[in-house]
Amino acid sequence: MNAFGSPRWVDFHCHLDLYQDHQRLVRECNAEKIVTLGVTTTPKAFARNVDVASGHSYVLIGLGLHPQLISERASELSLFEKLLPSTRYVGEVGLDAGPRYYASFQDQKRVFSRILRACDEQGGKILSIHSVRSVSKVIKELEQNLTHGNCVPVLHWFTGTPSEADRAVDLGCYFSINAEMISVGKNRSLLQKLPLERLLTETDGPFVNFMSRPARPTDVPTTVELLARLRGIDPQLLADQIINNLLAMHSPAPAEPPQRQMRLFKSTP
Ligand code: MN
Repeated sequence: MNAFGSPRWVDFHCHLDLYQDHQRLVRECNAEKIVTLGVTTTPKAFARNVDVASGHSYVLIGLGLHPQLISERASELSLFEKLLPSTRYVGEVGLDAGPRYYASFQDQKRVFSRILRACDEQGGKILSIHSVRSVSKVIKELEQNLTHGNCVPVLHWFTGTPSEADRAVDLGCYFSINAEMISVGKNRSLLQKLPLERLLTETDGPFVNFMSRPARPTDVPTTVELLARLRGIDPQLLADQIINNLLAMHSPAPAEPPQRQMRLFKSTP
C-alpha cells in the first residue's frame, strides 16, 4: 500500500484539461488505477484542475508555465510562485528553442531558472520538463539551480544525445517515454540504453495520436508493450519496474546517486 493505493500504470505527462471530456477522463484514470500527472500550461489553469481531480487519488496535478507560452504569459510567474508551496508537482515547465519560440528564449531561461530556484528552496518537488532543441541548456539549468538535490526532475519527451542522457542520469533525472518517441527510429538506440530504474511512461495527450485519435492514459499499456519489446524484456516486468520507479521517486529514503556528493531524493515534507 502507498499514497496512491495500488497503481497499475503510469502516465506521467498528460494534458487532462485539454480534452473535451476532462472530467470523464479523470474518472477513467482513477477507475483504471493509472497514476496520471495532469500537467498544466499556465498557473491560471491550476486551481480548476485541482478541483476536477479532487477525490481521485490516482490523478496528480502539476503547476505549469509552458515555455511555448512565455511570450504572452511571463507575467503569470508571480501567480506561479504564489501557488508553488501548495503543490508537490510542477509541470509543464522547461525550455523550447524551436524556431517558433526562439524569440522568447531569453525570457524562457529567466522564468525557468526562477522556477527551479524556487523549487530548490522549497524542496520535495517533482517536475515534468520540456526540452525541445534545448536539452543541454535544460540540463545546465538543472545543474545550476537544483543545488540541494531535494527535487526530482522528469525529462518529458527526451531527445538528447547519449552523453546528455548520462549527465541527466547523474543529476537524478527520470525519463517519461511516450509511444511516438518509440516509433521514431533514431530514438531507439537511446531508449534501449536508458537505465530501467529511471523509466516512466507518458502519453502527452492530446498532442500525440494513437490509432488516429488523441492518445489517452488508457493507451499506456500499449506503450509499455512497445518499450518492453524494444528492451527485450517481459512487458509485465517492465510494468512492475515502472510502478517501482514511481514509488521510488516519491520515497523519502534517498537513493545514493552515482558520482555525486550531494544526496538526491532526500526527505521531503
Ligand atoms: Mn506536453
